[in-house]
Amino acid sequence: MSCNHELCGNIQNVWLPYEFRYHQKGLKAHPHCIACGIIKNVSSDRARPLGYYMNILSHLRITKVQTRLIAKEMEDLGDFDDGFSISSFLQEQIFIRIVKKYSSLSEKTIIEAL
Ligand SMILES: [Zn+2]
Repeated sequence: MSCNHELCGNIQNVWLPYEFRYHQKGLKAHPHCIACGIIKNVSSDRARPLGYYMNILSHLRITKVQTRLIAKEMEDLGDFDDGFSISSFLQEQIFIRIVKKYSSLSEKTIIEAL
């Protein structure tokens, strides 16, 4: 992650629908970063470190090569574990998509490993 994220003042907050795992919770003031413009994740559902997902990969029935390809794609995203903007729910969606891309595991199997 190249940006250190500097929060805008309260006056510049943007009002956006607030969502928690697909459940709409109405509008909420979202601060954003004045440097890169990214919107802060204001839910209590926080991003997990990349290591958490690496640990899950080690428990899946996939080859070392598949593990490396999946890990590389997550790392290449850059902000996969950016706690500022990403929720663990969003991480899970991304993780499932990438694992499915490189393996023949079913979505159900991946979700159960999470
Ligand atoms: Zn930023």
